[in-house]
This record gives sequence, C-alpha cells and structure tokens, in this order.
Amino acid sequence: MHLRTPLLGILLLVAGLARGQTPASLTGDPRLDEKVSDLLRQMTLEEKVGQLMQHSSDDNATGPATKSNILNEIRSGRCGAMLNVTGAAYSKTLQTVAVKQSRLGIPLIFGYDVIHGYKTIFPICLGQAASWDVAAIEKADRIAAIEATSAGIHWTYSPMVDIARDPRWGRMSEGAGEDTYLGIQIAKARVHAFQGDDLSRPDTMLACAKHFAAYGAAQAGRDYYTTDLSEATLREVYLPPFKAAVDAGVATFMAAFNDLNGVPSSGNKFLLQTVLRGEWGFKGFVVSDWGSVNELQYHGYAASPRDAARLGFNAGVEMDMESKLYYPHLLGLVKEGKVTEEQITVAAGRILAMKARLGLLDDPFRYSDPAREKATLLRPEHLEAARDLARRACVLLKNDKQILPVQKEATVALVGPLADSRIDILGSWRGRGETSDAVTLLKGFQGVFPSDRLLYARGCDISGKDTTGFAEARAAADKADVVIAVLGESWDMSGEASSRSNLDLPGQQIALLTELHKSGKPIVVVLMCGRALTLENVLPLADAVLIAWIPGTMGGPAIADVVTGAYNPAGKLPVTFPRSVGQIPIFYNHKSSGRPQPPGERIQYKSNYLDSPNSPLFPFGFGLSYTKFTYDNLRVSAPILHAQGEPLTVSVTVRNEGGYDGEETVQLYIHDRVGSLTRPVRELKGFSKVFLKKGEEREVTFKLTPADLAFWRADLTFGPEPGKFEVFVGGDSDATLQDKFELAAD
Ligand code: BGC
Repeated sequence: MHLRTPLLGILLLVAGLARGQTPASLTGDPRLDEKVSDLLRQMTLEEKVGQLMQHSSDDNATGPATKSNILNEIRSGRCGAMLNVTGAAYSKTLQTVAVKQSRLGIPLIFGYDVIHGYKTIFPICLGQAASWDVAAIEKADRIAAIEATSAGIHWTYSPMVDIARDPRWGRMSEGAGEDTYLGIQIAKARVHAFQGDDLSRPDTMLACAKHFAAYGAAQAGRDYYTTDLSEATLREVYLPPFKAAVDAGVATFMAAFNDLNGVPSSGNKFLLQTVLRGEWGFKGFVVSDWGSVNELQYHGYAASPRDAARLGFNAGVEMDMESKLYYPHLLGLVKEGKVTEEQITVAAGRILAMKARLGLLDDPFRYSDPAREKATLLRPEHLEAARDLARRACVLLKNDKQILPVQKEATVALVGPLADSRIDILGSWRGRGETSDAVTLLKGFQGVFPSDRLLYARGCDISGKDTTGFAEARAAADKADVVIAVLGESWDMSGEASSRSNLDLPGQQIALLTELHKSGKPIVVVLMCGRALTLENVLPLADAVLIAWIPGTMGGPAIADVVTGAYNPAGKLPVTFPRSVGQIPIFYNHKSSGRPQPPGERIQYKSNYLDSPNSPLFPFGFGLSYTKFTYDNLRVSAPILHAQGEPLTVSVTVRNEGGYDGEETVQLYIHDRVGSLTRPVRELKGFSKVFLKKGEEREVTFKLTPADLAFWRADLTFGPEPGKFEVFVGGDSDATLQDKFELAAD
C-alpha cells in the first residue's frame, strides 16, 4: 500500500497544524524535512508501522546475544528502534543489518536508560536533586550523554520528572523529589544536557520526559498502581515539570504505566492529545512504557490485544515498546477503519524526523565508533565530576557537638554492610556502570587514614537476621575514637518495582547501631538510601547523620571528603523525611484544613494524630552545614504588586557565622492566603546558592512577578488571584523570617 496523501498534507499532519496555518517544519531543517518526506513517499504502510515498533535486545551482563528473530524483524523493516543495545561495536552490527539488509535501509534508533550516568555513575537522581545545584546536575547528564553516545546510544529514557510525595514508592529515587518548582528547574537542565542546542552533534541524544503522567502519585506508594487526582492537583503539582521539558525542546515522551482517574496513561487521550499536543504543542513522538499498551487489558480498559493496540495508538502512543502489538494489529485496524493510514504516516513521520535530526539519515554509524567509545568512558574528568556531585548531594541531618568533620588524626572504625559494597554504591538503573570501577567508602577512607588508624568491620548484612558480625564491629568501635556506621538500603530496595511498606533500616542494622552505641564512642551514621527513610530510631543512637543517598562510582572518596571536612556539606532535602510511615503522604506544600493544628502542642478537634506530631522528622529543604548561617533583614520592596508594574524584589541578608567556609541554599516560599481553590501553606518560588567565607555576609535577592503567583484556579484557568501573600525566606521550608505583600486587583 502506498501513500496517497500529498506531501504538504503529511507535513501539516505531522506538525499537528490545523488547516490554514503555515506548515511548520518537522525537523527544523528543510533539507531534512525533504529526506523524511522522501522516505515516507517510498514506504509501504507495513514499513511505516514497522517504524513504530521498538524491540529490546536481550543484551545482558555477559554480552550481547540478540535473538535471531529480532534480526529478521530489522531486515524486514518491522523494527524502528531498539532498547538495551549498548556498545559502539554491537550497535554498529545491528545498524548494519538495518541499513544494508532492509529494503529502504532506514537506520534504527537505539534507546537506553541512561538515568544517573552511563559508565561513570553519578549519585541517583534524588541525590542529585539534593544538591539543588542545577548546573552540576546539567554537567552530570552532559557527561552521561557524552559517554552514552560514544557507546552507540541515541536516546535516553530520561529525565524522569515524576513528582513523588510518597517515599514508599521506590521510584522516588529516580526523580527530583516532591517539589514542582525544583522539579521544573531540574527537568529543563536535564533535557538541555542530553540534547544540547543541536541534536545533530554526535555527542547529543534524544531525551524522554517520563512517565507521563502522575505515575509518582500511585496509591499506597505501590509501583504500577492506580492514581486518582483532581485535575487541579494534576495540573498544578504533577504536570509542570513535563511542560517544562516540552518548553526545553524535549524530543520524546514516555506514557506511564498507571491508571489516571480511570483512564490508563498509555491510553489517555486527555493527557496525550488535549494536554501534550493541544495545549503544549509537543512536536516529538511518544513511546509507551515497557509493555504498557498491552497492559491496557489488565487495567480492564481494553478487551483484547487488538483493542489495546487501537486504544494506545489512537490515544497518541506512537511507538510500541515491547508490547509487540502494533505490527500484528495496526494493519488490520486500518482495514477495519478504526485507525487511518494518515495517522500511521504521521506517527512514522515523527519518528523519522528524530532519526533525521540525530543525523542518522546522513550517517547511520556516527554513534558507533569503538575508538571514540574507548577514549570517552570513565575519563578522569568524568570521575571527578561524579565525585563532586556525590559530595554536593550529601545532606547533613544532625551533627551534635560538631562531631563532624572527623579529624584526620583520629582512629576510625568504619562499620556496616554498606561500607564496602560495590554494587550498592551504584544503585538501580546503573547503566553500564561496573562494580569493578566503583570506589567504596572503605577504599575512599583508605585514601585518607593510614591502615593502623582505620578499622573495618561489616557488622551485619543489609537484610536478614545474622548478628554474628556484631562482636567484631563492637571490638573495632571500642578501639576507635569515632565510629562511622554506613547503613541503609541495598541497591535494589529502590527504583522500579521496589516499593516498601516499612521505611526503617532493614535487617539487623538498628541492632548493630545499638551495639555500637554501647561502646560510648561518638557515632556518625552515613546513610545510603534511595528515598526518605524513617529515622526516629536512628537519631538517639547517632551523634551525626549524613544522608549520602546512593552516591555512585566515586561515592567512597566523595563521602571521605565530606566526613573529613575537605568538603563542607551543603545538600538540602528534596523530600520530606517522615517520623513514621503512618504520616505518609507528608509533604511541605500541604493544605491548611479547616482545623489547622498550631505548631507545637496537640489540641483536640484539630487536624492531628493521637499518637504522633503532624510535623515531619526533617522538613523539605532542610540540611545542615559545618558552619552556621543566619538570616535577617528580610524585605519585600513594596507592599503592593501591580499586574503591569515592576516586579517585587525580596531581599535578605545571609551571614556565615560559623567556623568554616560554606555554601547555603537560600529558599524563598510564599503563601497565598485566600484562593478560589485553597492554596498550600507554603510554595517554593525561588532558591539561590551562595558560597560564603566564614564571617562573610551577602544580600540575596529574588524577584516576584504576578506570573510567579499563578495557579490553576477554580474555573481551571491558570493565573494569579489578587489578595494577600506572605513571604518566607530561610534555609528550609520551615523558614520563620517573613514579610508580606498584596497583589492588586488591577
Ligand atoms: C520503566 C521505564 C524504562 C523502561 C525501559 C520500564 O519498565 O518503567 O522507566 O525507561 O522500562 O527500560
């Protein structure tokens, strides 16, 4: 079957333009547009459907071993993209089959989960977010892109921009945490890092905003589970980082697994058409999540595989990742009149446009150069950046009696199941990161302390019941000046399919800590974890607590830098740390309720618990430093903000009053006192990182415009409402310094 639609018609359809508008370019380059159109003209309908298919390589740790039937799919033009194909040489082999053995020689796109690094593994994304250092995050993903593209990869399934307010959900580890504003800044930076300003450069790659949408709001924190949200909350909290990704030019979107308000995301026209294409003008293509079109059946939304293909495709999922349904069913659906040829041409055109933009239609092998790969992976500057970001990610939660930093002259007992674990330091979605390259804490500390002053004992496993290692650990503690207990979660306790209903330290780790505490020695707990944990039983046993998240390849030296004071920690929590699982979901930007509980005492018939304070153990934005920052002199430049007038300036003086140079993340929150829909008690509207030498002070300023006050109002329009606002500035979301202003009705 050959295309009958005239070329201009295709371009209009692909660009999603209504009749009468100027046709937009598909690729941004008339020469590439022509190449795409030329291919579309030559392609059969079968070949176009073939472009919509994405197959996984069964590539594994022991080496690539693609099933022969996948090679047949490539040869016969029934494969547009693959995932899990890595390595310049292997990608070249498969690309050669596509280019030399298929009828039209259309190159494949190779996709892969490059989430927190490719070979050089950075801290998990949640840890990166804890740095609040958007430039450092962008640098990490740029390096990830440089490495991955040298290894044959054209497309990453990143950034994961799901807002996550529930730490039971293991995939909290993959995103930027609970806050929309922070999430937006990071989403933009990541898209730019992967795609650069020019996708045709061989070290840039397609990014993918996922998982669209509200996957992080799964009920009970259970992965793949149902999401049910008001449209206002969906639009205000969960969608903006996706919109930011579109505005940053993201090439692709991934439809999520979850059921959203009764319509699974991978069959959701409201999300994929009304919002993504209609409101946001997205021009790239949408891929399903792994098998998520097929899963429409298990949601109870599609009656058969064919029905699933129809619903997924008609909703706007253009590429079928591993459901293997589009090829078997779309042609039949065209015959039945349930899908049109034009729709298929549009979808194939969008995918071909990305191949064109990547330069693959000019040179299919530009990403598959083994010599470049060899010269690129694990470059010293990549490892140095990984070490730097792992340090920036660290959040100091407690530091009684300034027990940290540890003096280099001290004798240290390094204890715990995570102190020398190469796999756990890399985390889930570790790309092609290898344990042999991972530098553990033990190794990192060996670089600082001589062997006679560094005692190591594992103590216990991460999980399980065995306590036979306690005696050795206790003996080490008894001999040391200070104990550093490296505790937390294993690499596979967070990430996909890793929800937990109990967020305490697993196994015998609290018992180990209790035993170490009996030594009477000062105890520093370094926590490696992929989420917020419940730490009420840790705090009484620890003099200092440092959250290191899952720090990546260079975690060992990075944490040694922090613990010994070579680096002064500056991270701030991107998620609220609850006291108990019973408080979840708990997040800083909650609503007030009609019976707000005043901070402090518990009052009957107010919104509270019988058995727990409302407040979290550590609030969003919290993090200590070895030095001490003070804030004063908060001023809003005018009492009234006018719609067309000058923006307000909010300024504050920040002073380093402690004994160390250090960096502080100054945070600005507002509270809109009355709205047509109730407003959160606080909303982050700005942050600024300042480095202050000891004794130094600086005035930090923020601008506020009416646009910063906009929200999804009762009539579901977006904009600000006149009225009174409070402003808070400080080092965390509990900041007490406050001022106010009014948004005028003009
Ligand atoms: C995950 C996605 C990932 C995809 C491809 C799915 O199971 O949900 O985040 O990109 O697999 O590996």
